Amino acid sequence: MEALKQIIRDIPDFPKKGIIFKDIAPLLGDPVQFTTVVDHLKERYTGKKIDHVVGIEARGFIFAATLAYALGAGCVMVRKPGKLPYKTFQQTYDLEYGTDTVEIHQDALKEGGRVVVIDDVLATGGTMAATVDLIRENFKAEIVEAAFIIELTFLNGRDKLKDLPLYSVMEF
Ligand code: AMP
Repeated sequence: MEALKQIIRDIPDFPKKGIIFKDIAPLLGDPVQFTTVVDHLKERYTGKKIDHVVGIEARGFIFAATLAYALGAGCVMVRKPGKLPYKTFQQTYDLEYGTDTVEIHQDALKEGGRVVVIDDVLATGGTMAATVDLIRENFKAEIVEAAFIIELTFLNGRDKLKDLPLYSVMEF
């Protein structure tokens, strides 16, 4: 785990001043560490009858796709507005300044389906909370867990996701 944490690169003041961006590119680029993370998640969800892994744009897609493949599950995209070509459901949520929206295709999930939702970083939790609302309000699917590669514990994102099982591979 320490070797894994050390491979995450801190980029100060990106994309704006005051933010320390957790760059996962070195992790993705390392054949051993990338495989380790995906295998670790595979082990966690094997036998849990997962139908779909939902990834949040954009870095969440990388882990959603690899994990879905490893589990023999389907992969679903939650995207920023205007990117998905078919009919969508939408959920708008508050940011520090303004709002943002996430979208999903209307036929993406099935009734009674068991779902893992994944993103690279849990920061304030707003994006995941909106994604969970988007799924719960529009589909009769069960969210088995929300998973993250990195959790920034000092931002207390878990407080926004209290009614949901959460898992993070590493904490900072
Ligand atoms: P939040 O909604 O605040 O939990 O932010 C989560 C989203 O923003 C995730 O999709 C992350 O990719 C991205 N994000 C937020 N903060 C950071 C950070 N410090 N480093 C890298 N990505 C971040």
